[in-house]
Amino acid sequence: MPERIKIKHVKDINYFCTEEVISAPDTEMEDMFLVEVNRGCARSCRFCAASFVYRPARFRSETEIIAAIDRGLIRKKKIGLVGTAVSDHPGLVNICEYIIAQKAQAGLGSLRIDRIDEKIVDLIKANGDRDGRARAGMQGSQRMRDVLHKI
Ligand code: SF4
Repeated sequence: MPERIKIKHVKDINYFCTEEVISAPDTEMEDMFLVEVNRGCARSCRFCAASFVYRPARFRSETEIIAAIDRGLIRKKKIGLVGTAVSDHPGLVNICEYIIAQKAQAGLGSLRIDRIDEKIVDLIKANGDRDGRARAGMQGSQRMRDVLHKI
């Protein structure tokens, strides 16, 4: 074994798809088809392994994501968008609009509060999302959030 392990990062995550293959019945996600939309995160919150281990931030293209969604819609009617800061994906609105237009539901695990605008709120409503969103300040004070690079 080498003394130092160097992580090899895939430069372009569009070269392969990362989506659900096995679906286990009687589990939390049994009705949701999972599709990875991004990897890594540029925000660098100091406590976050996803940001530091999976650098750099990379986004899968809308075309590849929609192709994966189409494959998922053959099996399920809920599409879970998986990634680090999913709401940072530049095509998130288009992707969600596409899912809703297919009469399916988008699963958005967590959204950064600074990325939520009127359009996203409308989409959450159109999505028929009754589960609510997690809203977490996470740290006790603004000073602490600044130190951690977290809003
Ligand atoms: S925004 Fe989320 S994914 Fe990105 S570094 Fe911070 S905690 Fe990690």
